[in-house]
Amino acid sequence: MTPDVRDRPGRPARSGSVTVSEDAWESTVRLISEADEIALACHISPDGDALGSMLAVGFVLRSMGKRVAASFGDRDFAVPRLLRFLPGQNMLVPPDRYPPEPDLMITFDSPSVARLGLLEGSVRRARALIVVDHHPSNDGFGTVDLIDARAAATAMLAEQLIYRLGGSLDRDIATCLYAGLVTDTGSFRHSSTTPAAHQMAARLVATGLHTDEIARELWDRSPFGYLKVLAAALDRVRLDDGLVWTYVTRVDRAAYGLPYSELEGIIDVVRRTDEADVAAVLKEDDQGAWQVSTRSKGRVDVAHVCAALGGGGHHNAAGFTSYDSPDATMAKFRALLREA
Ligand code: AMP
Ligand code: MN
Ligand code: MN
Repeated sequence: MTPDVRDRPGRPARSGSVTVSEDAWESTVRLISEADEIALACHISPDGDALGSMLAVGFVLRSMGKRVAASFGDRDFAVPRLLRFLPGQNMLVPPDRYPPEPDLMITFDSPSVARLGLLEGSVRRARALIVVDHHPSNDGFGTVDLIDARAAATAMLAEQLIYRLGGSLDRDIATCLYAGLVTDTGSFRHSSTTPAAHQMAARLVATGLHTDEIARELWDRSPFGYLKVLAAALDRVRLDDGLVWTYVTRVDRAAYGLPYSELEGIIDVVRRTDEADVAAVLKEDDQGAWQVSTRSKGRVDVAHVCAALGGGGHHNAAGFTSYDSPDATMAKFRALLREA
């Protein structure tokens, strides 16, 4: 750990879009400096932002001499294949080996306690809780909240946290943060892409990142079965009145042994439809529940619609869980869209 990182590349950017009160940063640094063991958690079905932010901060905590346990509360605990390239996976422990009553817990990219799944009990029992997030719906469930809804990714807050702790970027940390930044900005295509997001990318790339390899891991590879499942999804795609949608069943996946987590990219194919403002993909998980991914081109606030169905997310990217059939689920969704 270098105590003074100001003269190095990847120096702290105190300005930019990340605005959290000085009090919150000071309390955070104090809580962390007083702790010996720190429990980290991110939301279930972790994406690059959730897992990347958590592991990046985990590296720095470890280098400060802290004992670190990191996890996410999925019933089937497995890192999605496309995130297995992230360094630091030896910090991960399954939920059944997670501290049940942590002295200090830090959550990443989770807008609510419910999105922590099986780790919910540990959150409720934690003596102190730091919440690091950028979801607008997050109204703060921590002892200290590091929340900025204007940040393009939780990774932007994680980077600031690293500097506040006196840490600096190395290639492993930068790989984790970059995965978060590019995931949540859609490779700098989404409206959340601010100058601060590009400035952060410059600091990360300056550590010697292999951005081509990261991009290939995240978006440009998949098992053969993905093509067949994508074909099935596209074969039954429908366009109803500005809404384009389709679904993927457990049976579709089983034929090719394709894990649920491989379905993330289908919404990016479906949402390109010119004739639609809103896109949805219903994905049946291994328990038979439907995880619904929705996207808007800007006019409709899908987070609002999904919240009415028990879910949440961001204005242009949100989701919810349904136990009804795809047709029944989309009938409800369409009725709410008409009101939106
Ligand atoms: P996804 O479609 O899985 O990429 O998710 C897009 C956004 O919606 C993310 O910010 C998620 O946090 C949010 N989201 C997805 N599914 C749910 C859910 N079941 N409940 C609450 N938020 C969700
Ligand atoms: Mn996320
Ligand atoms: Mn995020």
